[in-house]
Amino acid sequence: MSQTQYPCAGCGANVEFAPGTNVLKCPYCGHETVLQQTGARVREHDFLQFTSLPRKPVATLAKHVFVCRNCGAQTESESISDRCRFCTAPVVAELNAQELVVPEAVLPFVLDKRALREALGEWAKSRWFAPSGLKKVSEAETAKSMYLPHWTYDSRTVTDYQGQRGEHYWVTETYTENGETKTREVQKTRWFHASGTVYYDFDDVLVTGTTKVTQKHLDELEPWPLPDSQAYRPEYLAGHETLRYDVEPETGLENAKGKMRPVIEAECRHDIGGDEQRVDNMHTQYNDVTFKLMLLPVWIACYLYAGKTYNIQVNGVTGEVAGERPYSALKIAMAILGALLAIAVIVGIYVATKR
Ligand SMILES: [Zn+2]
Ligand SMILES: [Zn+2]
Repeated sequence: MSQTQYPCAGCGANVEFAPGTNVLKCPYCGHETVLQQTGARVREHDFLQFTSLPRKPVATLAKHVFVCRNCGAQTESESISDRCRFCTAPVVAELNAQELVVPEAVLPFVLDKRALREALGEWAKSRWFAPSGLKKVSEAETAKSMYLPHWTYDSRTVTDYQGQRGEHYWVTETYTENGETKTREVQKTRWFHASGTVYYDFDDVLVTGTTKVTQKHLDELEPWPLPDSQAYRPEYLAGHETLRYDVEPETGLENAKGKMRPVIEAECRHDIGGDEQRVDNMHTQYNDVTFKLMLLPVWIACYLYAGKTYNIQVNGVTGEVAGERPYSALKIAMAILGALLAIAVIVGIYVATKR
C-alpha cells in the first residue's frame, strides 16, 4: 500500500491541512504551503456501468498498512488517512480505483479547534438541563477531525401513479339542540379516481457511506454547503482521519431512493390537484443514475460524565452541533420544585380571593 506524506519545506516535519484555509501548515515551525489549483473537476460515475464491473466487497478488503517516512513505524488502519501511531505524523493512503471507489469530492474543513471550542461552548450554554460539568465540553481537547464518506446520487425519475382526488363541497345539516331545530354547514369530500405520470430530476441526494456514526446524528448536522466542495485531492486529508466507506454503493442507492420517495409522492399529490389527495400506488423508474463518493468534515468529541460516555458531532463547516447529553437530576428537581411552588402560590391567591 503506497501512501503520501507532506514534508515541511522549512523543517522537514509533516504538514497538515489547516481548516478554513487553502494551505498545508507545519504544526512545528508554522511554514505554509499554498495548495495550487489542479483544475480537476468533480465527476460522477455511471451507476449501471459501475455495478457491471467485478469488484470485491469493501468489507473483505485488508487494512491499509502505513509505513511512516518520519519514524519508520508501521500503522495498520481501516481509515484512508490517519496518523502514525508512534510519532503522530499524518499519513494519507494512495487509493487504488480497482479496489474501491476513490472519493470524487471533498468538503474541506473550515472550523479549526478554536472555532470548534466556541461552537461547543455555545451548545453547552444553550442546554439548560445539562449539568454544570458539561460546560467543560468546550475544553474538549481530545476532539478528532474526521472526514466521513457519503454517497450522492442523481437520477431522472419517471413515476406512474394511481390515486384519488378529493373535492370539498358543503351540505346543510339540521340538528336539534335544547329542543330547537337548527342548521349548520358541514364540509364533505367527494373522491374521484386520478392517475398520471410525473417526472422529477434529482441532483446530489446525500446518504451516509459509513455505519460507524449514527445516521440520526449525521442528519442533524445538515444542511451541508455542497457547492463549496472541491475535487478530491489527498492534501485536504493530511492531519485528519478519513473513514473508508463500509456502505456499498448499491445499499446507498436504496437509501437514497428512500429519501427520493417522499419528494416524488409530493409531486404526485401536486399533479392530482383538488382539495385533498390520496396516492394509492407509485411505480418509479430511476433513469440515468450517477453517483459519487464525497467526504464531509465532522469534528467528533466525546466526554465522560458520571461514568457514561457521550458523543458529540459538529459540522466541520457550519458549526452545527448534534449529539447526546446528560440531564442534571439536581437542575430538573429544582425546576419541578419551582413549578410546584408557583402552583402553590397561585392556589393560595385563588383561595384567598374566594373568601
Ligand atoms: Zn516545519
Ligand atoms: Zn511515525
